[in-house]
Amino acid sequence: MNRHIPGVLTLHAPEGLSVPAVFDSPHSGREYPADFGHAVARRILRFGEDTFVDELFASAPRYGAFLLEAHFPRTYIDTNRPEDDLDQRLLEEPWPGPLSPGAKTRSGIGLIWRVASETQPIYDRRLSLAEVRHRIATYHRPYHQALDDVIADTHRKFGAVWHVNCHSMPSTSDRRSPEGPGRQRPHFCLGDRDGTTADPRFVRFVHEMIGDMGYRVTVNDPYKGVELVRRHGRPGEGRHSLQIEINRGLYLDEETREKAAGFARLAADVDRLIGGICAYVRKHS
Ligand SMILES: [Zn+2]
Repeated sequence: MNRHIPGVLTLHAPEGLSVPAVFDSPHSGREYPADFGHAVARRILRFGEDTFVDELFASAPRYGAFLLEAHFPRTYIDTNRPEDDLDQRLLEEPWPGPLSPGAKTRSGIGLIWRVASETQPIYDRRLSLAEVRHRIATYHRPYHQALDDVIADTHRKFGAVWHVNCHSMPSTSDRRSPEGPGRQRPHFCLGDRDGTTADPRFVRFVHEMIGDMGYRVTVNDPYKGVELVRRHGRPGEGRHSLQIEINRGLYLDEETREKAAGFARLAADVDRLIGGICAYVRKHS
């Protein structure tokens, strides 16, 4: 079950024997849609990307897991926010339905980002309702649909499913960060929304495996996980959803967005981690 929508997403099916694991990389997209209409330089927008996270997790299908990747950038529309997490200040006209903007939207990084790089406005205009509806219908919903479908199919087939939501984080926090500006990030941060979206034994397994590789790992600090793990994590039903954030300083030149010297080493470690997660999942399903 491969699925490819150009410019939007690719779902890579397992090669060979499958295991009930689904990896997704919602923020690594680098194909900027022609109708984006941003005023800020592309270079600044790219700070929002989880650049190369798709590549770091590319071996998941070889271990029997699905891998879903978005091709569009999160600054265009962010799949890790619910549809109604929208900032009215972005829009030409009142949104014709209820909105529930959360704290991230108020700081400019909701469903559609208002600011890039702390305070720089992305647009010098307001967006039309048609424009926002198009982003939701053509990008946001198909991504969620693909993830919903593959998680539901996997759960039906195996009676359980482990979803790993893959991200990267800036090496240093800024003013929008939950922990305040200027703080060095751990190497990895796992998020299970304070123990609610995955079996704690699974979280502990991943935590220990990464720690044993010599990395500093935190759980739910500074990132707990947002919409994607909230939507899919129901451990009581055998649906486990865990967010993994990787420190970009390990593999990326954060200024130029090019691979840094550490990329190959980190990629090899992430490959081992995927192998470990898939072996765990096979054993526990
Ligand atoms: Zn991300």
